[in-house]
Amino acid sequence: MSEVETQRQKEIQQAEELLFAGPQALGFAKGLFQGHFVADWVMPYPRVPAAQQTELDKTLAEVRQFLDEHLDPVAIDRQAEIPRAVIDGLGRVGVLGTTAPVEFGGRGLMQMANCQVLEEIGSRCASTSVFVNAHHSIGIRALLLFGTHEQKQKWLPKLVTGEQLGAFALTEKEAGSDAANVQMQARPSQDGSHFILNGEKRYITNAAIAHVLTVMARTPVPGSDKTAITAFLVTPDMPGFTILEARMPKMGIRGTATGRFALRDVKVPKENILGPMGKGLKVALTVLDFGRTTFGACCTGAAKTCLRLAVEHANTRKQFNKTLGEFHLVKKKIARIAADAYAMEAMTTITASLIDRGLEDYMIETAMLKVFTTERLWEAINEAFQIYGGSAYFVDLPLERMVRDARINQIGEGSNEVLTSFIALVGMRGPGMEFKEIYDTMLKPSRGLGKAWTAGMHRLGAAVRIPDVPVESADLRSFGNQLGRLIWRFNFAVNRALIAYREPILDMQLVQERIAGAAMDLFASTCVLSRWDAELQAARRNGDSAPLEHHAADFFLRRSFRRIRRCLSDLNDNDDTALLATANAALGQDRSK
Ligand SMILES: Cc1cc2nc3c(=O)[nH]c(=O)nc-3n(C[C@H](O)[C@H](O)[C@H](O)COP(=O)(O)OP(=O)(O)OC[C@H]3O[C@@H](n4cnc5c(N)ncnc54)[C@H](O)[C@@H]3O)c2cc1C
Repeated sequence: MSEVETQRQKEIQQAEELLFAGPQALGFAKGLFQGHFVADWVMPYPRVPAAQQTELDKTLAEVRQFLDEHLDPVAIDRQAEIPRAVIDGLGRVGVLGTTAPVEFGGRGLMQMANCQVLEEIGSRCASTSVFVNAHHSIGIRALLLFGTHEQKQKWLPKLVTGEQLGAFALTEKEAGSDAANVQMQARPSQDGSHFILNGEKRYITNAAIAHVLTVMARTPVPGSDKTAITAFLVTPDMPGFTILEARMPKMGIRGTATGRFALRDVKVPKENILGPMGKGLKVALTVLDFGRTTFGACCTGAAKTCLRLAVEHANTRKQFNKTLGEFHLVKKKIARIAADAYAMEAMTTITASLIDRGLEDYMIETAMLKVFTTERLWEAINEAFQIYGGSAYFVDLPLERMVRDARINQIGEGSNEVLTSFIALVGMRGPGMEFKEIYDTMLKPSRGLGKAWTAGMHRLGAAVRIPDVPVESADLRSFGNQLGRLIWRFNFAVNRALIAYREPILDMQLVQERIAGAAMDLFASTCVLSRWDAELQAARRNGDSAPLEHHAADFFLRRSFRRIRRCLSDLNDNDDTALLATANAALGQDRSK
């Protein structure tokens, strides 16, 4: 077997172990890839239950007041530090333990509510929202999800108040996008009482200010010469813990402390293992799912700020004796930001609700949310920047800071390229396995026809049936029908790609990008339709007329449907061959051999 093939088999085996833990309820995204519209997960539009709404309203009011009075994003950016008083205040208003159980001092709120809090912070200061995410969304998440009662009792009370801070340390020089390639070693001691950790981590938010770090390191797999990743709780007072660089100077989110540290023969008690031994990668990916959800919330907040800034300027700045907002090319930018901000909020709410409602596997949805919202925010900031013209370039306005701050979003917590490929491949696995079953049986009929028959009927069923999109409002039926037809077309395109390319599709990222792009817009459109439907129903009950947001929803759906059609038609009509030839020539790669 060639080196490339061995690596491929290793990756496939790793992914299978990680992602497919056994039979699970069919989620929305996996359903899409099979040609189904699994309405229960997305309709009706989810709401924070009344019992939590009161606590959420109280938290939001406290958070807003605190941020109004004490948060100065300009000073945080200039001084490249979030003042301790701000961190203490965030702890006091509950932001550092929003979802932690009340028994450990947290607010006990659900993920949907947490996203509303993060949206508020994200609308004002990206440094602060990334800091809160690093601490709460990922830093203490493994402890919340996988910690034993004793571990939670020991560590959580001080972490949820901000007296102590958390960090999540996965990335290393050799393990960036390739997170499974962690090199930090954790060797068990002779008596089995502790592990001895050695290695270095880089780009870790809060590294030098954290009191507890969730660290991923390699442990031996008993009875084999293999190693697997395990999650450990590490504290900086452990001998051998060395900060190599506390605050790496950087372009944006300058208030966060992004650092490098080394562990040199650091003894970590076995009681500090989080989750099962050897399952650290699964722990890490689950933690990142939560991080990606609040990522969506922060981007939504920032996009709403872009809209507010763009509208303010377009309504006041005059050129050619007109306000800028009278020009159609400016209107176009504002309409796009408004539509995308509406969709980002809807998508964040629905994705968070999947977690709250106990869907076991929401990896594709969180990946879609992360890619979609970070790309849309980048565009929104660029559009708002353009509307401000030269003035945006100067540091007395927030847009130049927002550009610098937002650039990390497409890279951190899984780069958008890696996640795009992930969305397509994990999504296509279900129908891909069914085709494999049919194909293998055709080659070897002696295997028995039962499974292949079931697989064939599944594929055929999805191919002939246009899924029903059950909107309540009669005004939205036409959008619902269009969405159903697009899902049918998407399913057809996925089937066709799987039949045409078979296993090589694993390397065909240009095909994957179109499939993931269509899937993302199908999910975004679904979320928008669900939200719009709920708002129309509420407006009807209250006798209100259609609010402005519904123009945004209408415009979003039209654009989104257009993008889906484009992604699907580009699967058959594209310049991929020329693109790859050009890139290969530039890279000096000879693909003819
Ligand atoms: C400010 C900041 C804060 C961070 N905070 C944390 C933290 O708190 N904890 C933590 O563990 N990590 C953290 N990170 C690390 C972050 O998660 C990584 O930077 C990210 O995962 C990408 O890894 P990398 O930088 O090594 O890029 P690389 O892995 O070298 O990738 C570079 C680029 O190559 C492309 N690429 C890579 N693989 C593929 C592929 N398979 N297909 C197509 N394209 C590909 C992508 O465009 C990618 O952007 C932080 C990083 C920054 C900059």
